[in-house]
Amino acid sequence: MTKPVFRFAPSPNGRLHLGHAYSALLNADFARRFDGRLLLRIEDIDTTRCRPEFEAAIYEDLAWLGLQWEEPVRRQSEHFDDCRAAFRILKGRGVVYPCFCSRKEIAEAVAFREAETGKSWPRDPDGAPLYPGTCRHLPVGDIERRIASGEPHAWRLDGAALKRQLPGSHGYSRFDHNGREERVVADPWRWGDAVIVRKDTPTSYHLSVVVDDALQGVTHVVRGQDLEAATDLHVLLQTLLGLPTPLYHHHGLVRDPEGDKLAKSCQSQSLAELREAGASPRDIRQRLGF
Ligand code: GLU
Repeated sequence: MTKPVFRFAPSPNGRLHLGHAYSALLNADFARRFDGRLLLRIEDIDTTRCRPEFEAAIYEDLAWLGLQWEEPVRRQSEHFDDCRAAFRILKGRGVVYPCFCSRKEIAEAVAFREAETGKSWPRDPDGAPLYPGTCRHLPVGDIERRIASGEPHAWRLDGAALKRQLPGSHGYSRFDHNGREERVVADPWRWGDAVIVRKDTPTSYHLSVVVDDALQGVTHVVRGQDLEAATDLHVLLQTLLGLPTPLYHHHGLVRDPEGDKLAKSCQSQSLAELREAGASPRDIRQRLGF
């Protein structure tokens, strides 16, 4: 029998904090208890925010915590071609369209609709307004001309085309600490026409995570509840690309004393700072309940 494959997939855009430590330790704990393998993946598609020193710090912090992972570590930025290949499949299926809108233009279009209807415009699970569809039906000639002239564009999933191609329900199985599995209904449509290839990189978080989990043979995804809604979209992409759907476990988030989610952007205390203040790996494990 093949062993279960787990992965911890941090982005090197800041120092790791207790929330990352929890996710990494939980993956390692599951891998040990399920007699599985543990992989590490560096999610560095955002080449403007990811930095080599943060990547080096990830290895340092995880080794300090006592974690071991298999080599080589997959770096997403070295595998854009795999995402390009997946994107070509989506394009071939006719379920994507280019979008030339800036964030500002989308915000303006949404504000206009809200003023016109007096109703608030629907948001995706991350709180961003659903795409109002400005570029959904541009004439082919216009699209070709704008792309040929080098106008920056993202690619979006075409929700209407997807619903026609994949009618019916979508879902996945989640597993708990005892390995019990339970079926979950997924609602990918709540993401609207999600961006699947960004303007600044040949992929997106959603596309690369799905492609890489499949290429690395990941069978069990353990990640925070903040990514639970994204799984709904990932399941849809797996179906479209003919990839297997792993089992999922979305864990609770480590919160600060005010109850807010820890985040690199809010200067949450990093593992390095805790270490410098005298904390031992054992203290961290205990604090996180391991
Ligand atoms: N790279 C993501 C993060 O650091 C995690 C992605 C995932 O586990 O699917 O939040």
